Amino acid sequence: MSLRTEGPVGFQTATDNICEAGRLLHSMGMAPATSGNYSMRLDDGSFAVTVSGFHKGRLEPDNVMRVCGEGKALEDKKPSAETLLHSQIYRLFPDANACLHVHSTAGVILTRLTRAVIHLKGYEMLKIFPGIHSHDVSVKLLAVENTQDMQALCDVLEKPLPKVDIPAYIIRNHGFYVWGKDMESCLNMCEAMDHMLSVEVSIRKLRAHARNGGTK
Ligand SMILES: [Zn+2]
Repeated sequence: MSLRTEGPVGFQTATDNICEAGRLLHSMGMAPATSGNYSMRLDDGSFAVTVSGFHKGRLEPDNVMRVCGEGKALEDKKPSAETLLHSQIYRLFPDANACLHVHSTAGVILTRLTRAVIHLKGYEMLKIFPGIHSHDVSVKLLAVENTQDMQALCDVLEKPLPKVDIPAYIIRNHGFYVWGKDMESCLNMCEAMDHMLSVEVSIRKLRAHARNGGTK
């Protein structure tokens, strides 16, 4: 099965891609328990998204469902709680065909450690993002506060989203979103983000250790 099918896809392809993404993200530690949600744009204008409440490392085809462009269920299942955020991304980014939301441990730790704006600077892994061809850049990672009110979160994101440096944002103390032309690119961006956020956490730990004398 290819994860590189670009453009809006059929439901079967989307289901296969989403189930495989869950297995891969779980194996990388970015899908603890039932957390996260994944989607793909479909060729009829709707999109496929994970059904709420299933373990993402053990997804089955029945755990993926269709929702309309506004995120409302088109079948008798309950879509992921954050489906509205996926529909916002597809509306604002017509070239986005896949979207992944993961609960990265490093992302949670980093946004607990600091309230400051997060800049990802000088990383070789930044080249995984579209339009970036050198490590010698600094990108600002859009960060928003966590809430259970998805409409409120959409409202907060609506203005800054079209201006993001990279196709990603982080919800503090929760996890991050990435979106791209196909599932493969989204998985690569997830892995790159998790790597850079892990390094950011480690750097802060080492600096704190050095500030404390480096002996404890
Ligand atoms: Zn989440």
